[in-house]
Amino acid sequence: MKLNIQDTFNQELPADPNRNNTRRQVEGACYSFVTPKKTAKPQLVHVAEEVASMIGLSEEDTQSAAFLEVFSGNKVLEGTDPYAMCYGGHQFGHWAGQLGDGRAINLMEVVHQDLRWTLQLKGAGETPYSRSADGLAVLRSSIREHLCSEAMHHLGVPTTRSLSLILSGDQVLRDMMYDGNSAYEPGAIVCRVAPSFIRFGNFQIFAARQDSATMQRLADYTIKHFYPKIQLGNREAYVQFFEAVAQRTLKMIVHWQRVGFVHGVMNTDNLSILGLTIDYGPYGWLEGYDPDWTPNTTDRQFRRYRFGQQAEIALWNLYQLANALYPLIEDTKPLESALEAFKENYQQAYLQMMREKLGLQEALADDNGLIAKLETNLQLTETDMTIFFRNLSKVGKTSEIAEGDAFLAPVREAFYHPEELEDGVLDKWREWFGFYVARLSVETISDEERKEAMNKTNPKYVLRNYMAQLAIDAATAGDYRLVNDLYELLKKPYAEQVDQEKWFAKRPEWARDKVGCSMLSCSS
Ligand code: AMP
Ligand code: MG
Repeated sequence: MKLNIQDTFNQELPADPNRNNTRRQVEGACYSFVTPKKTAKPQLVHVAEEVASMIGLSEEDTQSAAFLEVFSGNKVLEGTDPYAMCYGGHQFGHWAGQLGDGRAINLMEVVHQDLRWTLQLKGAGETPYSRSADGLAVLRSSIREHLCSEAMHHLGVPTTRSLSLILSGDQVLRDMMYDGNSAYEPGAIVCRVAPSFIRFGNFQIFAARQDSATMQRLADYTIKHFYPKIQLGNREAYVQFFEAVAQRTLKMIVHWQRVGFVHGVMNTDNLSILGLTIDYGPYGWLEGYDPDWTPNTTDRQFRRYRFGQQAEIALWNLYQLANALYPLIEDTKPLESALEAFKENYQQAYLQMMREKLGLQEALADDNGLIAKLETNLQLTETDMTIFFRNLSKVGKTSEIAEGDAFLAPVREAFYHPEELEDGVLDKWREWFGFYVARLSVETISDEERKEAMNKTNPKYVLRNYMAQLAIDAATAGDYRLVNDLYELLKKPYAEQVDQEKWFAKRPEWARDKVGCSMLSCSS
């Protein structure tokens, strides 16, 4: 196994001089060196071969004993110096002080085909930032992270990737629903891959400690390596940096809204400075279209991180980042304008994204109204978001919107309670489809062309919450086939895959209120 190792983060930025793995406050440093914990009996569950080849590993490499040793954390590769990053963050709206990589350990950076990748283990043991926790991760949450990272990538959503999923052979104690019922679960380790894992919180921690010098070093490092178009040397560089982060964050959120992804824990320590989806914990996928939905039971009361509020929360988090970067800029105006721009640009980008979901290539002033009415109608009765939009492409310029309910045939499969489609509800849908078909007649493209375009933006297959749970249940019983099958399925989320139709279906009733399917906690 040969990797082209070229570390920069732990070479160019200040390190914590203390190499002991004791929990502590770390000041004036961006990270602490730490060695991953040895595992009892590592066992490979799944490798994303595509990610392996992206970092320069062959299939032979990934099946080797060395691979298992390195990516379970048992062996530190020569020429590498693993470390945990120091960061802070706002959790659920409150400043939480130092957090840091409590169970993530960055192994190394590799450069392959001119691209830089950081390889990071999650669940490889405690670090100086572990606070009161054990630094470990369990199989269920690791399957969720591994599969979802890759599914998101193939959906076209900016995200961290996942190379491997390895059972540690150790048992890990978790109180899954925080209700006093602790139990041992199989431990696992995922190797995440991204250009960098720097978060908003990496900057915030230095602002909180009034350590502008270290923050400036981190900002310069981030700009130099990841925003190379920005010219360093004056304050304007940091303004441009902030604007670029805001733009990338905006793009990411629009994608989340497009595919129905709810992150679940949008704390500032879980927002990537590169606009990548990061930290797959109690995330979920909209089944019934419901802007108020959140999968995270820890957030059940206030629903801060609900589907319909993700853009506002991103903006709130950007405010915190702006506050953190202020000492490097010392002028609030350009930061305020960037935040203002986010609001406007988001409206525009969201509108454009929804037009694409509806297959509209022309931009008409009234489209906002058409979209708003659709969003209202989707909530009249429980309506599956993925199935509705995918099947909407079957409606065309000459579709008849007559009396009765025949006009709903193309999307009928999306309704969880077809018996509720009567009188008022049916009339509202009839009205909307009437508008929609009339609107389609303005389009110059053919129905066929539109269908093709829509099927590239409205996925057929997403990692529905119960699907991940089925893979977890099987894997817990020692059968990893479904992990692999779902990984393969979700590599082509926009393709028809006729032999996989069973996954193009509404959530089964048994999964409605099942833990892991609709209810997830932060315990992982
Ligand atoms: P989260 O919001 O789940 O991303 O995590 C918040 C903080 O808790 C981060 O600093 C994590 O590194 C840390 N953390 C979460 N789970 C563990 C664990 N099992 N052991 C150590 N630290 C953890
Ligand atoms: Mg986190």
